Amino acid sequence: MANPTVHTFDAVIVGAGGAGMMAALYAGKSANVAVISKLYPTRSHTGAAQGGIGAALANLEEDKWEWHAYDTVKGSDYLADQDAVDVLCQDAIDVVVELEHMGLPFDRIENGRISQRRFGGHTNNETNRPVYRACHAADRTGHMILQTLYQNCLKNKVNFFDEYQVVDLIRVDDTVRGVVAINIADGSFHIFHSKAVMFATGGWGRCWEVTSNAHSLTGDGAAICMRRGIPMQDMEFFQFHPTGIFKLGILITEGVRGEGGVLINGEGERFMERYAPSIKDLASRDVVSRAIYLEVQAGRGINGKNYVHLDVTPETVNHYFEKDGEDMRISREYIEQKLPDIADFTRTYLGVDPVKDPMPVQPTAHYAMGGIPTNVDSEVLLDAENRVLPGLYAAGEVACVSVHGANRLGTNSLTDLVVFGKRAGVRMADFCDSAELLPLPDNPAEEIMAEFDRIRNNEGNMKTYTLRDRMQKTMTANVSVFRVHDQMAKAINDMDEIKTDYTRFITVDDKGKQFNTDLLEAWELGCLIDLARATAASAIARTESRGAHARDDYPERDDDNWLTHTFATLQSDGSFELTYKPVTLGRYEPKPRVY
Ligand SMILES: Cc1cc2nc3c(=O)[nH]c(=O)nc-3n(C[C@H](O)[C@H](O)[C@H](O)COP(=O)(O)OP(=O)(O)OC[C@H]3O[C@@H](n4cnc5c(N)ncnc54)[C@H](O)[C@@H]3O)c2cc1C
Repeated sequence: MANPTVHTFDAVIVGAGGAGMMAALYAGKSANVAVISKLYPTRSHTGAAQGGIGAALANLEEDKWEWHAYDTVKGSDYLADQDAVDVLCQDAIDVVVELEHMGLPFDRIENGRISQRRFGGHTNNETNRPVYRACHAADRTGHMILQTLYQNCLKNKVNFFDEYQVVDLIRVDDTVRGVVAINIADGSFHIFHSKAVMFATGGWGRCWEVTSNAHSLTGDGAAICMRRGIPMQDMEFFQFHPTGIFKLGILITEGVRGEGGVLINGEGERFMERYAPSIKDLASRDVVSRAIYLEVQAGRGINGKNYVHLDVTPETVNHYFEKDGEDMRISREYIEQKLPDIADFTRTYLGVDPVKDPMPVQPTAHYAMGGIPTNVDSEVLLDAENRVLPGLYAAGEVACVSVHGANRLGTNSLTDLVVFGKRAGVRMADFCDSAELLPLPDNPAEEIMAEFDRIRNNEGNMKTYTLRDRMQKTMTANVSVFRVHDQMAKAINDMDEIKTDYTRFITVDDKGKQFNTDLLEAWELGCLIDLARATAASAIARTESRGAHARDDYPERDDDNWLTHTFATLQSDGSFELTYKPVTLGRYEPKPRVY
């Protein structure tokens, strides 16, 4: 194989979603930056985000960033680091205005200010009522953020390497020297030699069978870092969003409930009144997902099946608004205007018109709270003692700073992308200003090229889709909304077998060079397997229930022993070493969560 082409930049950013492009805008102010993306940038998953971006702008009613911070900490089940949450909620306000000034077409209210809607877990801390905090552009908020950032990157002449897939990080002791990538179009290997590297590669919902995540969300950046000795933080916390379209997993935004939609069981009951008497359908996602699961288990799914109804028909919504003493009415026109894409999805995929009929929904694997550990400047941490790996950065869903703790609130991911993406960009620019470009080691691509040769030429008989299916089935059955020790032990066992089969027998039909997605998907499956294994290993060790990690055998939260972040470090024999770091507390003392 030809020698890889070498490109040299001050900084390379892997990923062109919201986090990567926000960082590129800031790092690019003084450094020579390349953004490498396996997808064309505007196809990144950020573009699928629907409901909104959280910021206490107080455009419709009183709100404060401190209320936003409290809701975030409470939503996180007190696992979030409160110093990072303060940064998130304070910076959110300026960053949303900054996006507006970049040209983002937010929905407006009559006085011209940005429109806001209600969302799960966001409250007025004095009344405990849902507050209008989610800034939105209809139900296409992420699409608008992504387009706006991309246009601004083009305007600022950011260098893009579209459809290049990064497959390795060049790390020499405690320094980084760049990354290795494949040009998807012709299969050639490229080395990006740089002073700084940032990962903004998004999540890994594809570990599970039913997911809201795009096909491309295979956790590449997290797996690459893990294989190069970076620990993974809080992997046991993976969010199941309560309202995915039944069987398909496609997301129905929480914005539907924010606009008044309610969940109804097979007996026609608005069951969230029982689980969260004060905030009902707008309780945090872990609470609502568990409620749906329990309703289904008790035989109260629709027609005894494993789904419930999400009802946003004006008749139902207006009935409940009235019952709750609210002076509000919604209509067909209102739904078409505020939720056009959702209406479109359900008509297309289900043949259900949400203005007339309820939508069948079930929990869907949605969001990685855990990931590459960072500090509030998006610098990557090497261990639970907060030692930084100079020159390495991460932000967005792949990172764990940690502002979401054990459960993320809706709208806080988009905020996280722009707030911590920006901070990564600023910090990287500073770093590149003073850092030297360190020399490349000999043959930095050799190891990963050999791995691709092995996958390409393996004589085995295991196809990617067979192994992926096995992984998704065991993770769904054993490490999902509710967990117990024996099931997680089974998942660990199954995943070990899957890993062995992957290493020995994975095979691809396409042996060619051009657009060899067969080969790349086989490599991506290896990433998913490593992340699924880290998830199961971290989960079985945590003997309590907190946020998205709900154990039937340890139903209580245990603050005496578990107010800690998990750091899982991959060992050379494939096992994980687990260490723990105390949560950074602040203004908010942990207390039982009541919604
Ligand atoms: C359907 C849906 C709706 C959502 N709605 C909301 C919402 O309303 N509000 C909210 O706050 N959050 C929402 N979220 C969550 C939020 O959208 C995501 O967490 C967030 O967009 C992730 O952004 P990111 O920048 O980290 O990564 P992404 O936008 O996922 O981008 C990842 C980037 O990395 C690149 N990449 C990945 N691997 C490689 C590789 N090996 N080499 C090169 N490039 C690579 C990809 O090409 C892509 O450019 C939603 C998520 C989904 C799935």
